[in-house]
Amino acid sequence: MTKPFVLIYGDARLPYTVQEDPARSSRIGIHVEPDGTVMVDAPPGFSDQAIQQAVQKRARWITTQVAEAAGRFAHVRPREYVSGEQILYLGRRYILKVVVATRPSKFAKLRGNRLEVETRTSARDEIQGRVRAWYRARARDYFAQRIDEISAKLSWIEAPPPFRLLEMNRQWGSCSPSGHVILNPHLVKAPRDCVDYVVIHELAHLKHHNHSPDFFKLLDQQVPRWEQHKRTLDNMVELAFSE
Ligand SMILES: [Zn+2]
Repeated sequence: MTKPFVLIYGDARLPYTVQEDPARSSRIGIHVEPDGTVMVDAPPGFSDQAIQQAVQKRARWITTQVAEAAGRFAHVRPREYVSGEQILYLGRRYILKVVVATRPSKFAKLRGNRLEVETRTSARDEIQGRVRAWYRARARDYFAQRIDEISAKLSWIEAPPPFRLLEMNRQWGSCSPSGHVILNPHLVKAPRDCVDYVVIHELAHLKHHNHSPDFFKLLDQQVPRWEQHKRTLDNMVELAFSE
């Protein structure tokens, strides 16, 4: 169950989303996502008034976080899809090379430090489409391979779970209650350690379907430095999610 609320602080009006979190008993939790979305987790049975009061108490912290997120996004320039632009793949930077050919090949491919795309025209949409398709294909292959390899090492997993790609606005991955892993194709731009962290995070949800202390205990055991990977991912959201 989610409900829209608005925090008013000075001149700022910040909408936020409240969801009930059965793992909580006494306090609400507030998260500001990298894109500035404010999410509040409340224990079951908390009244709207109690939630609003608790959020109001942290209004200054929330507005600061939201302003910082907005600042990070302000630097993003829209991509033009021309030769020389940077392409991120598994944490490395490649240079886009657009080749206009009369009989272009169907696929984009990596050559040395370049991603080469052959097209009939240098129209932005056509090149963007090729680059996106290339990212999706690479993401599907790489994530499937990592899910298989990592699943084999985790004691609570008998067989690698089904997974699919889905572009999400503010999440790198998720795990459905029925055990399907969903990964954001943009994640293939992140360093390998960060991809593994997201995969293990979602696989840990096959054992604990929540963000309870037991979940984080398991995550700590499997990825001792996961907070560092999460920070890296938070900092690259603006770059990775812009297209
Ligand atoms: Zn999670």
